[in-house]
Amino acid sequence: MFVVPLIERKRDGAALTPEEWSALIAAYAEAKVPDYQMAAMAMAIFLNGLEPTELVEWTRAMLHSGDVLDFSEVTVPKVDKHSTGGVGDKVSIPLAPMVAACGVAIPMMSGRGLGHTGGTLDKLESIPGFTTALDPGQFRQVLDTCGLVLAGQSETLVPADRKLYALRDATATVESIPLISSSIMSKKLAEDLDGLVLDVKVGSGAFMKSREKARELAETMVGIGKAYKVKTVALLTAMDEPLGNEVGNANEIAESIAVLQGEGPSDLVEVTMALGIEMLSVAGIETDPGRARTMLEAARTSGKALEVFARVIEAQGGDPRVTEDPGSVLPRAPHRTDVTAEHAGFLRGLDALKVGVAAMRLGAGRERKEDTIDPAVGITVLVKPGAEVEAGQPILRLSYRHPARLEEALSVLDGAIEIGGEKPDSTPLILERVD
Ligand code: URA
Repeated sequence: MFVVPLIERKRDGAALTPEEWSALIAAYAEAKVPDYQMAAMAMAIFLNGLEPTELVEWTRAMLHSGDVLDFSEVTVPKVDKHSTGGVGDKVSIPLAPMVAACGVAIPMMSGRGLGHTGGTLDKLESIPGFTTALDPGQFRQVLDTCGLVLAGQSETLVPADRKLYALRDATATVESIPLISSSIMSKKLAEDLDGLVLDVKVGSGAFMKSREKARELAETMVGIGKAYKVKTVALLTAMDEPLGNEVGNANEIAESIAVLQGEGPSDLVEVTMALGIEMLSVAGIETDPGRARTMLEAARTSGKALEVFARVIEAQGGDPRVTEDPGSVLPRAPHRTDVTAEHAGFLRGLDALKVGVAAMRLGAGRERKEDTIDPAVGITVLVKPGAEVEAGQPILRLSYRHPARLEEALSVLDGAIEIGGEKPDSTPLILERVD
């Protein structure tokens, strides 16, 4: 195939035809187009963007580069949720069982943590025995028996994105709205969904630091969903401070279980509820937000959602006793140390990015894809911004294994805690809705 003329045209700002995009991506997936040409094309897209029709075609071509799931025999609505990633963002873990308990089928495919953001798969794997690597038959069986499956993405789904993402990572072409949105949406559309809810995080601990960029990403992804007739809604949610009180893996599972026991920190519950309301709405189960909230609240306070989670854990090889007694089942780091307030005042900020990077340095996250994580280490936020603190009061608790890693984490946390004389204005967590 003659790729150079296509790159030239995109480089010069022209649009390619649907046939050209589908031929290019199919050839790339079959290794008939070399990485260096695709890297040049990715840079041309990075610089010049894609027109709306090109974006839909590019996404379609990516989506059809591998298997597309078929859940047509599943009679209840199928909905998934995707987050662009944040610090302490364990929302999927309590949310999915809550929504499944309300009658929605959730074939959830999640990712791993990279850099300062955690990944749902890593968190789930801190439950002893839990496996997220399911073959298509197992995936389907867990979905059929539990109404929810929590797994990694199979190798055969959107293989062109897998290749292209690695290439973008190495060629400074990750931060492109058309490339990010088509990458995320092609994988979600391959799940044969009726509805999709996107949590686009905004702030220091998020991929998108500005509200404008986050809105543009949300609008682009919602537009792709609509083009495929999948009801898609995005919420822009704040990520300037960690979500909830726990950042890590096993500790985030324990916090998720607390939410499913009718407890949990209010910010985490608020974001979980807001996304759950949207999921019930796109599923067509309950479009009235007040009634949807009541259903979700009942699912978590009655223990029904926790039961769904326990069944999924068992079906995926994990120890379901974790849902009754997380403390005795989950791994625990051997040492703890606190970071305290330097002086009295109001806690005005807790930098999500620094807390996320510090947790990664402790071993809770990966700097590179091949790194292994330590499920037991992490950071507990003892005081949330807005509270008044005394000098010397513990603000963050670091659970660690290796003293050298603790030192690295502590140095990252330098400047993460902002204390001032005035109580900060409270800022909303749910910033915008895009549909
Ligand atoms: N997540 C993805 O799946 N793809 C991107 O391009 C960025 C984040």
